[in-house]
Amino acid sequence: MPILDWSGIEIPQALKAPVPASDLEHRALVGGDFWRQIPAYAHIDETTFLDYRWQGRNTITSVPKLLNALQGLVSPEFIADVEAGFKRAPMCVRISPYLLSLIDWKHPYEDPLRIQFLPVDSRFLPDHPKLGLDSLHEQEDSPTAGLTHRYHDKALMLVIDTCPAYCRFCTRSYAIGGDTDQVEKVNFAPTADRWRRAFAYIASRPEVEDIVVSGGDTYNLRADWLETLGMTLLSMPNIRRIRIASKGLAVMPQKILTDDDWFAALVKIVRHARTLGKDVALHTHFNHPNEITEISHRAIMRLIGEGVFIRNQSVLIRNVNDNYPTLSKLVRRLSYVNVHPYYVYVHDLVKGGEDMRTPLQTALDLELQIRGITAGFNTPLFVVDAPGGGGKRNAFSYEAYDRKTGISVFTAPSVKPGQKFYYFDPIDCLDADARARWADPNEHPKMIAEAEALCRS
Ligand SMILES: *Cc1c(COP(=O)(O)O)cnc(C)c1O
Ligand code: SF4
Repeated sequence: MPILDWSGIEIPQALKAPVPASDLEHRALVGGDFWRQIPAYAHIDETTFLDYRWQGRNTITSVPKLLNALQGLVSPEFIADVEAGFKRAPMCVRISPYLLSLIDWKHPYEDPLRIQFLPVDSRFLPDHPKLGLDSLHEQEDSPTAGLTHRYHDKALMLVIDTCPAYCRFCTRSYAIGGDTDQVEKVNFAPTADRWRRAFAYIASRPEVEDIVVSGGDTYNLRADWLETLGMTLLSMPNIRRIRIASKGLAVMPQKILTDDDWFAALVKIVRHARTLGKDVALHTHFNHPNEITEISHRAIMRLIGEGVFIRNQSVLIRNVNDNYPTLSKLVRRLSYVNVHPYYVYVHDLVKGGEDMRTPLQTALDLELQIRGITAGFNTPLFVVDAPGGGGKRNAFSYEAYDRKTGISVFTAPSVKPGQKFYYFDPIDCLDADARARWADPNEHPKMIAEAEALCRS
């Protein structure tokens, strides 16, 4: 049937006021050769910039490399701050030229990408006293190295320990990236032996239907390894769903556009899954609308064109996306490019990441404002990954929330029945009285007991 022609029809009287242009800003993606603002990339043409090998080769991992790329774009004071930040950070630093080009170097302290990827000494806050390095206790629920079986029917496989970029807020700083001055890491390098043990376990558990393949980042797996991984999992009758997690799409979309082997391996797994009536989706990780550019859109179009379904998981990060205009724009922009906003995580307690956490209340306020702006299936669920291994809980499902001390209490009946889990708001967001109590370790058990006394059950 041809498209119906509506020209010449009188437009029905509108019941709503015309929308302001700001309501449509989410559609305006950054395009053009924006990378040329970086002195080192001023002469880089598009073909070079889209080459994932060029992106990899020119990735920034040290202060001298950063200085070399920026060449006078930032002040010496800022560079000194970064230098001290590198020494203090528990995560390695790794920033692709693509990310570097998206940072507003006139305002590096406020820039949402700088905050996520480049540590500066002056903004560090002391860690929360209740923080442990593996705050989600992933290693406790782990039957074999790099496999976490916490929930009944799903398991998390950590296949590799490197990523195309390193996020300051990474929950897995206990394993991801090389050792730093601050942390000696657990080793999850991809080896056939480690994978075989994980496969043997997964195949032996009939209740497991769903595998989250994460890392590190599957972007850094060789194409043949990715294919082997997908095909092996799909060959198990119990496995019905696989999610391939990769932040790569957000930090280096060039890989999707130019690493044809990796792309073909992913498409092969997705197609094979479909013939079996199984589901393979790509899970990615955009946190700020600035991260979705015309280049990302081209990568997303290539994936969608081959039938790859994409979901997004964001982290709520202070001064990055913890306000309504930014987060609503992110949700709208993701919806616009048809990447489904699945979760917004309340920031985990991670070492060196206190400046990026928000109180639980921020998530509650934002969810209230965001629900209803777009389709329900494009409306993220706000979750707290309960420290201590309770798993993800709906942020609104707390048993108690003492806003004064910043302690919230969660239960997880389907995961760890009978146990209570606590989330702790960042101390610098509390009032002077509560900050003084947190400074005294004798007060900690009392504050927890007070929060528990508020519990519904
Ligand atoms: C997040 C996670 C999963 C997947 O959980 P969903 O809520 O289904 O996205 C599975 N296992 C572990 C250990 C996880 O942390
Ligand atoms: S991409 Fe994921 S695993 Fe890698 S550093 Fe970032 S948050 Fe951690």
